[in-house]
Amino acid sequence: MPNHTESNNRNHTRVVIVGAGPIGLELAVAFTKHQVSFQILDAGAIGQTISWWAPQTRWFSSNDRISIAGVPLVTDDQNKANREQYLTYLRIVVEQFQIEVQCYRRVVDIQRRESGFTVVSETTNGKTEINCEIVVLAVGGLDHARRLGVEGEDLQNVDGYLREPHRYYGRQVLIVGGRNSAVEAALRLHHVGALVSLSYRGRELSEDNIKYWLYPEITGLIRSGRIQAYFETQPVRITPTHVELESVNQRGEGGRVSADDVLTLIGYEQDKSLFQRAGIKLHGENQQPQVNEETMETNVPGIYVAGTALAGTQASDYRLFLENCHQHVDRIVAQLTGKPVESDDRDSQQLIQEAPES
Ligand SMILES: Cc1cc2nc3c(=O)[nH]c(=O)nc-3n(C[C@H](O)[C@H](O)[C@H](O)COP(=O)(O)OP(=O)(O)OC[C@H]3O[C@@H](n4cnc5c(N)ncnc54)[C@H](O)[C@@H]3O)c2cc1C
Repeated sequence: MPNHTESNNRNHTRVVIVGAGPIGLELAVAFTKHQVSFQILDAGAIGQTISWWAPQTRWFSSNDRISIAGVPLVTDDQNKANREQYLTYLRIVVEQFQIEVQCYRRVVDIQRRESGFTVVSETTNGKTEINCEIVVLAVGGLDHARRLGVEGEDLQNVDGYLREPHRYYGRQVLIVGGRNSAVEAALRLHHVGALVSLSYRGRELSEDNIKYWLYPEITGLIRSGRIQAYFETQPVRITPTHVELESVNQRGEGGRVSADDVLTLIGYEQDKSLFQRAGIKLHGENQQPQVNEETMETNVPGIYVAGTALAGTQASDYRLFLENCHQHVDRIVAQLTGKPVESDDRDSQQLIQEAPES
């Protein structure tokens, strides 16, 4: 049964949390504990962002840094959790605290009322409205795979996401990108028997941008020619059978590379539409929502931002991860309840300087 205190009215609640990723859920648990009435909606399943990672992808953060709501995240082999373990963990948290998440309900508009807001969401059955006083946007920042903007990018053999590696067995695959996602995909596909090549704009792979356990292996495979790397190149045209690469700054060696499949793993972009519709100011290169960092409230009084959504589109300089967003929850709860919350000191510990994407 749902554990929504104060109000059971579907059309009215104090707070609407948009996004049931780890931070939205952590906030939902905190509101439950503090008896703040809320509804939580997600455009997809709970943990939607993690659900589209390739099977068995591991977090680079340690388990204690990505656990939420005080619930320990334990793996049977003491390793960092993978996608499946973490999704299981999120389901356990939701069950334990009886959080009723309204899944597959995309919020498409936030309209101001005389007092508070009307949050408009869409399902396949039509639109629903919820009136509330406060909205928290915990919508993350990985909404769309970034596009190359070249001819052939919409062909069926081109994908911006790594999916089940097995499907690439025996295939010639060109991977575009040179950071964690691209390197991890290159290694996984090599290990399932794909013939992998890599096109990267950079002069070489940077040890600083790649998980420490992947870097030695990828550099060894490139050195031995088992993975062919085309550094300082970028695709200019994709066809069903090959990719045309051109050199970047006339330094790399362009040419035609045979490829049955192309994976463009060059990062992700945040969908700004909800921020824009709600009148939230965005700033800087990443178009980050502007907030008061002590309260997490935006320029629109009553609308807050929590989690990695705060970073906007993290193009190359990744600074916000789940592991350093827990304190957003504390700040919002303190603001709404007037009670200081014991701070989550995990956020002040040193971050692992690795980016999930290019
Ligand atoms: C391969 C990979 C590996 C990663 N490894 C790490 C790691 O090791 N450590 C780390 O800290 N981070 C890692 N990340 C990043 C990680 O995904 C984020 O740190 C984490 O998901 C952020 O949590 P969040 O709750 O802020 O946002 P999200 O998990 O992105 O949750 C946002 C939620 O909002 C929902 N939503 C968005 N828009 C709407 C809308 N309009 N209406 C309703 N719902 C909406 C989405 O469906 C989603 O469920 C990795 C990412 C990738 C791709």
